[in-house]
Amino acid sequence: MAADSTYGLLVAGAEGPAAGGESAELLDPSTNRPIARVAVGTADDAARAMEVAQRAFEGSDWAGGDGARRARSLARLARLLDERAEEFARLETENMGKTLRESRIDVGFVVRTLEYVSGLADKLEGTTIPVPGSRLNYTVREALGVTVHIAPWNYPLLLAMRSVAPALAAGNTVVLKPASLTPLTAIRLARLAREAGIPDGVLNVVPGPGGKLGEALVRDRRCRSVSFTGSSEVGRRIAALAAERLIPAALELGGKSPVVVLPDADLDRAARGIALGIFGNAGQMCWAGSRLIVHESVRETLLAKLRAIAEATRLGPGTEEGVEMGPLVSRDQEARVLEYVRSARDDGGRLVTGGAKAGGDRLAEGNFVQPTVVDGLAPDARAAREEIFGPVLSSFAFGEVDEAVRLANATAYGLFAAVWTRDLASAHHVARRLEAGMVVVNEPPLTFPQTPFGGFKESGLGSEQGARGLEGYTRTKNVLLNVALPKKKG
Ligand code: NAD
Repeated sequence: MAADSTYGLLVAGAEGPAAGGESAELLDPSTNRPIARVAVGTADDAARAMEVAQRAFEGSDWAGGDGARRARSLARLARLLDERAEEFARLETENMGKTLRESRIDVGFVVRTLEYVSGLADKLEGTTIPVPGSRLNYTVREALGVTVHIAPWNYPLLLAMRSVAPALAAGNTVVLKPASLTPLTAIRLARLAREAGIPDGVLNVVPGPGGKLGEALVRDRRCRSVSFTGSSEVGRRIAALAAERLIPAALELGGKSPVVVLPDADLDRAARGIALGIFGNAGQMCWAGSRLIVHESVRETLLAKLRAIAEATRLGPGTEEGVEMGPLVSRDQEARVLEYVRSARDDGGRLVTGGAKAGGDRLAEGNFVQPTVVDGLAPDARAAREEIFGPVLSSFAFGEVDEAVRLANATAYGLFAAVWTRDLASAHHVARRLEAGMVVVNEPPLTFPQTPFGGFKESGLGSEQGARGLEGYTRTKNVLLNVALPKKKG
């Protein structure tokens, strides 16, 4: 372990141990050797962080202050992160396993998110509304108070900051609970808050277990909203807790996203994009394009191209130059993915490529799974319906476009969908009929801080990113003034 390998809770601008004194060991997913120890927060830590955040909301110049002041601090935080981008990318890779190239992209996305929301922090405008009589009616947008953010492990810093950054820009104070497996980059970023000019207590990070710590944060009476990114199963639990307290919940959940390939598609481009969409981040993406729905006339050609890409993919520790796919985040995740592959085979799926633990002796210590493509599964087979969260693509063939749309929509999820075609009319036609919060045409999964990100159906509620995402961290107050002059007497 490196010298700076102990991480604490970051509350009120100070880093320290958890109330119970407990800490946990974190492992490098490419070797399963320890890299750091991190404090394990308790319900007492949750209560302290919420109190600190509440006091910062009421007492600092963050919420009530000038939006331009918040804009400056968030822009400064973006700059500080940008200057240390390589250090953050390396830490993300060591902790989570993704390749350095992927971590660099994630850190760049966070920098851009901070820049984007800093530009909005002083533009939270209300409206004036015409009403009858001598009256003035206007709205103001106010911060909510203390907002709670619960993040997953697959894009640790990016998905934490995707909701934290707009909440801060809107003037809220924040308590963030990163995923237990991957809290390091979020803690390290919060260490920079003071240097960026963010008052102590405005951004607090409390790592720890979801069940106890996460629930304690959402149940806390000071919690004014919860932003949760994670599985649909836990999302339901968060929604129930939020309903009890009648607070808003933004839920970004799982997916089983379709990639529809029409017969006129550029198959080389499509194959590269599809591979990126399922083997990128070792398939651990909410919006992974995990169901290929391909026209029967090009099915064999496309599968051959995907197989060639999969078999040429260089696996290894994310920190190694030239590596294209890293390990899965944990041994548990590896076991879960391999179990899904087994179930796909039991249900009659044919392995086009992959399907096993990867790497031979060189990578045996890590959680490496081969890029995998399965063909011939029934659409209602378990591996075809459930989110695998690994590098496993299931392929289905169609004859008519209606059948493709039906297959694409035949899932409980509705996060993302892709269409590959050279025909503009077909692209619009299919995009319009897909039940997904995001549709791309001739692109792998791609998003920007300024575009909304959110799912339909069991993939979530509400959306993050963009100006509307930031609006979700405000509430609207309507003010009605009687401005009639007093009647003259006599
Ligand atoms: P998870 O649901 O197990 O955990 C997510 C977070 O919730 C973690 O911080 C965890 O500690 C916490 N948590 C767990 N139980 C909790 C509880 N009862 N109360 C409060 N917090 C609790 O998900 P994961 O395994 O970390 O991430 C993978 C999942 O996240 C996948 O389903 C994936 O699709 C989804 N995801 C969705 C998006 C999106 O934007 N839609 C993005 C990334 C990941």
